Amino acid sequence: MNDEKLMTLLHEFKQLGATSMGGVTRCVYDDNWSLAQKKYVAIANDYGLYCFCDKMGTIYAATSDHISHKPVILTGSHMDTVVNGGWLDGIYGVVSSVLAVGQLFQKFGTPKIPLCAVSFSEEEGSRFDATFTGSRYLTHQLDDAVFNLKDRTGATFNQERQNRVTELRQVTPIGIPDFKIRSYIELHIEQGNTLDQSPANIAVVTDIVGQKRLLITTKGISNHAGTTQMSGRVDAMRKAVDLMTKIYSSLELMKGLRFTIGKIIAFPNVANVIPEKVDIALDIRHIDQNVLDQAFEQVTQIINAVGATYRLTTNVVATPMDYQLQQQVIRSTKQEKLVGERLFSGAGHDAQVIANSKAPSVMIFVPSQNGVSHVPQENTAEFDLLAGQRVLKRVLYDLAYCS
Ligand SMILES: [Zn+2]
Repeated sequence: MNDEKLMTLLHEFKQLGATSMGGVTRCVYDDNWSLAQKKYVAIANDYGLYCFCDKMGTIYAATSDHISHKPVILTGSHMDTVVNGGWLDGIYGVVSSVLAVGQLFQKFGTPKIPLCAVSFSEEEGSRFDATFTGSRYLTHQLDDAVFNLKDRTGATFNQERQNRVTELRQVTPIGIPDFKIRSYIELHIEQGNTLDQSPANIAVVTDIVGQKRLLITTKGISNHAGTTQMSGRVDAMRKAVDLMTKIYSSLELMKGLRFTIGKIIAFPNVANVIPEKVDIALDIRHIDQNVLDQAFEQVTQIINAVGATYRLTTNVVATPMDYQLQQQVIRSTKQEKLVGERLFSGAGHDAQVIANSKAPSVMIFVPSQNGVSHVPQENTAEFDLLAGQRVLKRVLYDLAYCS
């Protein structure tokens, strides 16, 4: 019965932002995001959980209406997706956790330690050039500059945020998340292929890679593509290509480093105009913070050498997960008669932001078929999705009711 509910809800949320290519686009503060957060409130209310929304649009669903200043066990993930992303990233943890908290509350009543499910407003940075804004706000790590950011259409983060929070106010009270986080547990798909190639159904995450994302800008002078001599041009794209070639040559030599240039925008982005500006997004990650810092140093030297500029849009340090919570996940996996293993995460997660605020945190991974994610083909076997939720529920039960 409960198993059916998880799968039914996951399929329903898939429709909120479904794309013609079979993926999901549910970016922060868009129409489908708003519908999805309202649906989340309705699910939580059905279980008698106490909901509120914070000023970012993150929804909390707790087993008590007095969690202010109390240490709570927090569990959840993020509601947003990348553009044309998969149907499980974020939402799998969001739905599994609210069902787990709701079902435990219904069956066993008020726990000794309050449980709180969370649906973070934003994590992916797919609409505005800022990531983890939901969990960064919660843990007082959000820079106010975020509020002035604009999306591609010129809409500002702050205006969009205000509009949506006003809408959410119709279904749930607005509140300040001033509780203390005793533990944070996040269930998520792996997004890589390690579990898919192993006999294990479950992984406990030991560490999350450090990540830096830079928005690099080269400048030129716009002019006519046909009448401007090649020799006299100041071409922002020519500089960008030179810069990118140097970055590839330099970073490819660094062992274990993962780096990606996944986004380039030329201005004015017109075929017969020399670009006056090119924005390049560079993402670099490593499990060892020293290597990541060294890579960043090399990149900034290259940027300075070609006369470009940059802004650091994401900066998360390599983060170990809490050892005691890891042990708890391993015990629960065994009790559920599932095969588990330990993994580090190459993807950044809210758990990393929360762990960096000194709150003990852990993640539980389930396999991603063929190791693909952030694309419409993202999938996980139903058995594994249900297995992950069972482990999460057992961990929450042990921590909240048996401590
Ligand atoms: Zn995610």
